[in-house]
Order: sequence, then C-alpha cells, then structure tokens
Amino acid sequence: MPHPEDCQYCAKDRRLTEIMIEICTLQVSTLYLFREQTYRGRCIVALNVHQTELFSLDDETLRQFSKDVAKAAHAVQKAFKPGKINYAVYGDLVPHLHYHIVPKYMDGDCWGKPFEMNPSGKKILNDEEYGTIIRAIKKHLAA
Ligand SMILES: [Zn+2]
Repeated sequence: MPHPEDCQYCAKDRRLTEIMIEICTLQVSTLYLFREQTYRGRCIVALNVHQTELFSLDDETLRQFSKDVAKAAHAVQKAFKPGKINYAVYGDLVPHLHYHIVPKYMDGDCWGKPFEMNPSGKKILNDEEYGTIIRAIKKHLAA
C-alpha cells in the first residue's frame, strides 16, 4: 500500500513530531517516545509501511512486528519497572498500524484499569528529561 500523504506516520511531519520523538527503528517498525509522559516510559511502535489491519500483513511481517512490540515493551519494563504494561491498537483517528505501549505503576494513574489516551493532567517534560528516558530505553533495547 502506498504511503498516503495524509497519514502522519508516513509523512513523519509536525503532526507526528509534536506528539512523539523517534527513538530508533526496529525490524519492521519505528519506536517513538510519546511526549505526554503521565505513564513514564510510554511509547509507540509504528509499522514502517502503511497498513491498517493486522490481518493484512504477511506472516513474516506480522511475526516481526509482534517481536518489535515485545522487544520495545521489554526494554521499557527493564528501564522503569512498571507493574504492568498495556498494549493498545485502535487506529480510529490514524489508521496506520501502531501499538501504544503504556507502562502502568501500582501507585500511578489508572492502575488496574485501561489507561487514558489523552490524560487531562498533561505531563510534558523538557528535552533533557526526554533524553534521559530515551537513553534508558535504548540501553535496554541493546541488552
Ligand atoms: Zn501511514
């Protein structure tokens, strides 16, 4: 499927960079840090090609995409030690396949229930704080 101009994951323009920071590319996807950090370590894993449904992927891409998601979540787990990680795929607003990887903490927001997509008490960090989180994730991706 061609990369539609109106898709922010394909265009990688300001619509994307305003809400997330690229961490690195994985096997068939790209890992981003979500700027809103109510859930410390929250990331997005977006498939590198424009597809909208998991069943549209060939077996090998589906396998690699799943491995990318697991690898990213494992790195987040090792870096920040959340009590649970939520995995969410919706695609109502941006149908390009992407997983929200959302660490949940026992004393943190929405423990024991679904995370809030856009928390009302927005937690925006500075570049240095984002850098610290990204370095921690990268360190554990490499391990
Ligand atoms: Zn796309």
